[in-house]
Formats: sequence, C-alpha cells, structure tokens
Amino acid sequence: MRLVDRFIKYVKIDTESDPNSNTVPSTMKQKDLSKVLVNELKEMGLNAFLDDYGYVYCKIPSNVKRDVTPIGFVAHVDTSFDAPGANVKPRIIKNYNGSDIKLNDYITMNPKNSPALNLVIGDDIIVTDGNTLLGADDKAGVAEIMELASILVENKEIEHGDIYICFTPDEEIGRGANYFNHDWFKADFAYTLDGSQVGEIEYENFNAASAKLTFTGKSIHPGSAKNQMINASLVAFEFNSMLPTFLNPAYTEKYEGFNHLTNMSGTTEEATLQYIIRNHNKDIFNEQKETFKKIASYLNNKYNYEIVKLEINDSYYNMYEVIKDHMYIVDIAKDAIRNVGLTPITNPIRGGTDGARLTFDGLPCPNLGTGGFNYHGRMEFASINQMKKAVDVALEIVKIVAKKNANN
Ligand SMILES: [Zn+2]
Repeated sequence: MRLVDRFIKYVKIDTESDPNSNTVPSTMKQKDLSKVLVNELKEMGLNAFLDDYGYVYCKIPSNVKRDVTPIGFVAHVDTSFDAPGANVKPRIIKNYNGSDIKLNDYITMNPKNSPALNLVIGDDIIVTDGNTLLGADDKAGVAEIMELASILVENKEIEHGDIYICFTPDEEIGRGANYFNHDWFKADFAYTLDGSQVGEIEYENFNAASAKLTFTGKSIHPGSAKNQMINASLVAFEFNSMLPTFLNPAYTEKYEGFNHLTNMSGTTEEATLQYIIRNHNKDIFNEQKETFKKIASYLNNKYNYEIVKLEINDSYYNMYEVIKDHMYIVDIAKDAIRNVGLTPITNPIRGGTDGARLTFDGLPCPNLGTGGFNYHGRMEFASINQMKKAVDVALEIVKIVAKKNANN
C-alpha cells in the first residue's frame, strides 16, 4: 500500500479525541487506527507495539556498522473535536485548477474563502464532502511516517541509524505528550510531522499560562445598598478594564503575545474570569503574568479585603529556549527541505505543540509541514503532491543524519 491509499484508509477511521473525558486515551476509538498501524508495521517486518496508554512505538534498527545519531518521527492519530470526525468521505480532485470546489449543497470552497488553495494549484488534492473534517491533521503526518518506514524497509541500500517512530493519542486536547515513553524512545532528537505547508520547519511556539480570578462581593438588597454593596461582577469588569487594551488576540499577530478572556460568569456575590496568557518572549510573558498580579493586589488594597483571588498556572513553554542550543536539528531539516527543491519556511507557532512538551522533557522536537491545510474544519484538504514531498523531506533528513556521522 502506498502513501495515498494509506491516507485514505486512515482518515476513514474515526479517531476524535474528547476534552471532557478522563480516560487514557480520551476515546478508545483512537486505538482502532493505532492497531491498524501496528499491524501494518509488523507486516513490514518491523517491531511495533501499542502500549496501554494508546501510544504506538516502532524502531527501525540501524543498518550500518558505524555510530549514527538515533533520530525519531512523531505524529498524532487523534482528530479535533471542533468538527465531526466520523464517516469521513475523502474525494480526490486531480490537477486542481483554482476553480470552485462544491463540497456539498451548502459548502463551496474556493481560493477566496480558502486562500491556502492558491498553494496547491496544479496539484492532486483530497477534500471532504463538507460534512466532516478531513483529518489530514494529523493523518497526513501518520501516513507519511508509515510511507517513510516502508521505503526504508524496502530499500536496504539507504543507510540509516536507529529510527524511532511514535504515534500519540490526544494531541488535540493537549495530552499527547503526557504518557510519552522517553525511556523507550531513545532518539537524540525527533520531528513531529504535524505542520501545514510542506517546507515548513517550526521551532518557536508560545509560552503559555492560564489565569483564573475569583471575585467575592458583598451582596445586600439593592434598595438599601448605599455605601455597602460591592458587586463582584462590576469589580471583575474593573479588573479587565485595567489590562492593556492591545494585548488582545484580535489585535495581535506574529511575535505579538496576548491575554485572552476565555470565560466569565458573575453575580453580585461572586464572579469569575478566566484568561489564557501567551507570548513567545519569556520575559514579556512573565511581565504579562506580573500585570495580573499587580492589578489583583491593587484591587485588594482598594477594597480593603481580599476581593479577588488569582490563580496562575503555566501550561507550556517556548521550545526555542531549548532548541536555540541545538540549532543543528533545525539546520538538518532546512538542508533536507532545500535538497528536495523547496525553500524552508519558518514561522513562529501561535500556539503550542506536543513537540514543545517533548522538547522540555528532553527530546528536542521541531515540527515539519505535511501538506495538509485548513485544519479543524470541513474545508480541510491535503495536497498529494505536497504529502509526497513531505515524505521526501523526512527521507532526506534520515540520509543527512547518516552521512553526517560518516564524515565525523
Ligand atoms: Zn495536529
């Protein structure tokens, strides 16, 4: 089975993860795909297994006598809960010419409402029937790593060191790195294949924290409230009004961070505000958190009791903090991208990745483009041409690493 057949087979398997579930993995149906992957790897003659947490592991042993740096590739099997993920009906459009694509009676996709289509004109692309997401995020990555494995197994003359593979569950709900077995996965570094346009290499992401504020007011009948009532909801407004106006996701891009109000509720007696805090720069990230503390303490002084309780928890950090001391990992990927005839594209991720968590847990792990676009929605699509290139990039990385050590 080749790349496209694999991809079509995988996207038809429903693997939606569930943020409200406390099981591991969050949905057992993710294992339906994981088991398929283990079987296919075994059919290739490789040693692969599915662990209790729903992670697939596989090692392709080195085929050379000299020491070669062991590296790894990682992708996630789950799909986002933002759009339906069951009964995916992929459709191939050959040689896409830039015109309207009628997905169904309600949804027509074109380069206007979906500018990423401009990047794939002339390509064979795969789209949905408009009722579900496609699941290229991240089954494009999964299929490409499977294809890489089969190429390495079939072409013994390609020299390589130990190659580790892992397919994780629950990336979309931020838990993909939780049970990653670092003791088993003995790569020096790895790449997640979980980006978008092929040629992308991502190694900077947000530093992230969440803040929860609980306001306790003083309630009294409004008819006799003069000089006595303190309305918790109004103090919550007061808090928000003291935050910097332009540190709002709706006003920011690229390396600009933000504080984003994600939830609010309130009565006179009690109100809560929840925010997420994001910045690529650790110092500014810390200043943003400091601002929250200063405003809270100002309000507590002003009202003369602990009117607001603030809880801040860090979620993840910018992987660049670690990667900056290992830039050869990025350089290898950039060389590989150039070797297959593309120009490397680097953009700061305005979010997090499992790679960030893995990086801080000791496995430096930048992210590579896979050829999938418009993630988490019904207009998601993948370019077959770009997916093939993504396999070429991964294969080139394997070759460069094997060669590097030959020269040392
Ligand atoms: Zn993804």
